[in-house]
Amino acid sequence: MSNNEPGFETLAVHAGGAPDPATGARQTPVYQTTSFVFDDADHAASLFNLQLPGFIYSRLTNPTVSVLEERCAALEGGVGSTATSSGHAAQILALFPLMSPGDEIVAANKLYGGSINQMGHSYRKFGWSAKFVDPDDPENFRRAATDKTKAFFIESLANPGGVVTDMAAIAEIAHDIGVPLIVDNTMATPYLCRPFEHGADIIVHSTTKFLSGNGTAIGGMVVDSGTFNWMQNDKFPSLSQPAPEYHNLTFAETFGELTFTIYGHAIGLRDLGAAQSPMNAFLTLLGIETLPLRMDKHCSNALTVAEHLSNHDAVDWVSYAGLETDKYYALGQRYLPKGAGAVMTVGLKGGYDAGVKLVESVELFSHLANIGDSRSLVIHPASTTHRQLTEEQLSAAGAGAEVVRLSIGIESPADIIADLDQALARAGS
Ligand SMILES: *Cc1c(COP(=O)(O)O)cnc(C)c1O
Repeated sequence: MSNNEPGFETLAVHAGGAPDPATGARQTPVYQTTSFVFDDADHAASLFNLQLPGFIYSRLTNPTVSVLEERCAALEGGVGSTATSSGHAAQILALFPLMSPGDEIVAANKLYGGSINQMGHSYRKFGWSAKFVDPDDPENFRRAATDKTKAFFIESLANPGGVVTDMAAIAEIAHDIGVPLIVDNTMATPYLCRPFEHGADIIVHSTTKFLSGNGTAIGGMVVDSGTFNWMQNDKFPSLSQPAPEYHNLTFAETFGELTFTIYGHAIGLRDLGAAQSPMNAFLTLLGIETLPLRMDKHCSNALTVAEHLSNHDAVDWVSYAGLETDKYYALGQRYLPKGAGAVMTVGLKGGYDAGVKLVESVELFSHLANIGDSRSLVIHPASTTHRQLTEEQLSAAGAGAEVVRLSIGIESPADIIADLDQALARAGS
């Protein structure tokens, strides 16, 4: 091979995945084992002292999971990753090294609904709190920050609305106040958006969605850029102060650019236990091999559907950053130049009843609570995921009574459109 940096499509197939040294197996084997035999007592001691990299126990590291970690780090242009049992676990693992009781994050108010619940309610049990601000004005992050703020959190392309965030502007404010910007890149994937090139410090993923791509495996990932200086202030004592449990080593002095990733395994996974299973890592690796092909098809199908629905009599509005008339089109061109992803929201003229009728009338689409499958998916948030919310909360969340969310699959575009047309006709009658 030449010395040039391999292209994205090459990394998607190869990064981290050499032939198995023991057997020559070309596909990454599923190392379905809990634990690994030590060479001798000295070897075991060096592993436990974090002096030698290697495998001890699959809650900490596992060879199949490590390939997935290396591949995701390569695709995002980061230095290391920590795989987790789910996207929500990745969010906790990303914050765990940064937060102490009483600390806060400032997060965008346009986020996956599950993240708003997790951050708004359950984090309080750790003594953490989240302030939610409108990311359309990046200065809102500066206004909300206090000396207890330890991170900013945004989605590059927000679920469900098709909202694109001005990441570079928010990163600059984060760095002004000495905290990292964490970006959830689930909806865009590293194929469409590269947050580290726009100033992000840490990326989280729900690999459950487009990375695995076939709706087979729940999983998450934390990827570190390796560029944030944890010693620049006294905000991050877990990383910049001696750790008594590891003979007073200081993570940021000992591990340099791998600090965040090694903490994620040696403390985060060790103590929170949210490890990814080898089988799920294997399924996700298979999915990632075709990520570039799938994302191109998702994006072209979604744009075709968005254009069709924009001109449909039963449709009031379509929110999709790929449409030239969309509010987020310009930001989309800057941050997602290859396409605006697969997910859009659509406002139906027939309101709540039309939404319910539509999800009951589709035949090709599946009515379920997921995105990022190769199949086309639909949900009516007001009657399902967002049922508990008041009318005011529904419209603030972009999930008003008239809204349906579509995740456009990689089927033939004519079939996707035909199914929507027949379902819209039944929903209108
Ligand atoms: C699904 C999702 C999550 C949560 O991931 P799980 O794997 O379901 O835990 C977080 N962020 C976004 C943007 C998502 O779509």
